[in-house]
Amino acid sequence: MERSGIRMDERLATAVVDMYCKCGCVEEARRVYEALPAKGLTSWNCMIGGLAVHGRGEDAVELFGRMEKEGVAPDDVTLVNVLAACAHAGMVGEGRRCFDHIVRRYGIEPKMEHYGCMVDLYGRAGQLGEAKKVIDDMPMEPDVGVLGALLSTAGRWEDVARVRRLMDERNVSKEAGRSAIEVDGEVCEFQCGSLCHPQAEEVYAMARDMMRRIGAEGYVPDTRDMLHDIAEEEETPLLYHSEKLAIAFGLLRTRPGDTMRITKNLRVCRDCHEATKFVSRVFEREIVVRDRNRFHHFKDGKCSCKDYW
Ligand code: ZN
Ligand code: ZN
Repeated sequence: MERSGIRMDERLATAVVDMYCKCGCVEEARRVYEALPAKGLTSWNCMIGGLAVHGRGEDAVELFGRMEKEGVAPDDVTLVNVLAACAHAGMVGEGRRCFDHIVRRYGIEPKMEHYGCMVDLYGRAGQLGEAKKVIDDMPMEPDVGVLGALLSTAGRWEDVARVRRLMDERNVSKEAGRSAIEVDGEVCEFQCGSLCHPQAEEVYAMARDMMRRIGAEGYVPDTRDMLHDIAEEEETPLLYHSEKLAIAFGLLRTRPGDTMRITKNLRVCRDCHEATKFVSRVFEREIVVRDRNRFHHFKDGKCSCKDYW
C-alpha cells in the first residue's frame, strides 16, 4: 500500500479490520482500528462485532461506550453486536442494560434478531425462565433462529427436545459438518466421517495417534453432544468429526509452532472442544477455530471462550 500510495481511508480500514477479525487476528484488527483517525458508524460496528465473536465482551461494551461518547448514534447492527458480545462473555446484566438503553435512548425498534440475541444471552447463562419470557413478550412469532437460541441452554434436555420437535415440524434441514484449514496458502476441507481426501489414510492415522496421545494426558471422550445436540454429526464417531480431521491434517502439514487456523460451518461440539484444548497443550500449538457462532483461541490447554460458548 505504501509503495502504491493508496491511502488508508475509513472504508479500506474497515475492510482490513473485518478481514483480520474473520481470520482470527483480533489484535491486528484492533491496531488498524485504533490508528484510524475518523471513525464512522460502520467501522465502530465492525470492531465491536469483531470483539464480540472473539469473546471479548468487556472490550466490546467499553468500545460501545466510547462510540457513544464520541457522539456516534448506534443502529440495528450495533445493538446485535453489543448483545452478541455480552452473550458470548456471559455478561447477562450488562446485555439487558445495553438492550434497554439502546432501545430507549435511540428509539431503535427491536427486530427478530435482537430478540434472538436476548434469548441467547439468557439461554447461555442457564436462565431459561427469562429466555422464555423474552419469547412470550416479543411482538412477532419467534422464528427458528430464536427458538434455536434456546438450544444453547445446557442440561435442559426436555426443553431442547421440545424445541427440536418444533424445528422438525418446520423442516429445518441439517447441514453436514465441514472444517477447513489453510496450509501453505491452500485451503483443505474435511467433511465429517468422509474418506475422500487424497491423504485420507495418513490423516486418519494421525487423528488416531493424536487422540491416543491426548488420551494418555487425561483427555476423556465426551459423548453428551452425540446424544443430545442438534449437530448433524451426532451419529458419527467422535474421532471422525471434521475439525479433528482438519487438526490432524494440520499437525501433518504445518511446522512445529505454527498457529493452525480452522473454520467450521457448525458449532463445535463439546468433545472436539475438549480434545482441541488437549492438543494445544500436548502438541504445543495455538489453534484458532471459527465455528458457526464465534472464535475459539486454544493455547496451553485452555480456550479463550472459557468453555462458555
Ligand atoms: Zn465434534
Ligand atoms: Zn472455546
